[in-house]
Amino acid sequence: MIVKKITTGFVIQTFATEQGVFVRQEFVAGDECDYEDEDGSPLETIDAFKDTKGKEAYLPFEMVQPGGPNPDLPYDWQCPICMYEVKWTMNQVADGGTPICPECDCDMKLA
Ligand SMILES: [Zn+2]
Repeated sequence: MIVKKITTGFVIQTFATEQGVFVRQEFVAGDECDYEDEDGSPLETIDAFKDTKGKEAYLPFEMVQPGGPNPDLPYDWQCPICMYEVKWTMNQVADGGTPICPECDCDMKLA
């Protein structure tokens, strides 16, 4: 039997305006879930959602991140003034912004 668990929530997509790229997305699940059969009719119980050990089945929400499956992958960034280069990940951009050139104190660009 095929049954569906429908979770209400929202998605936060983080965008770096200087680079014109999305750097991260997160799915935030709400507390409300609906359960349906494959025809879309509501289920009266969630007894069908048992794993092979008899516990309530759980599947984490895993979204693919921008820039590929690994947001810790380093990219080459370059200073537009002195051409200084550095490795910087999309996780670092999402957490603290784009790299700053230590010589010119300006925002570096994706090389
Ligand atoms: Zn520089």
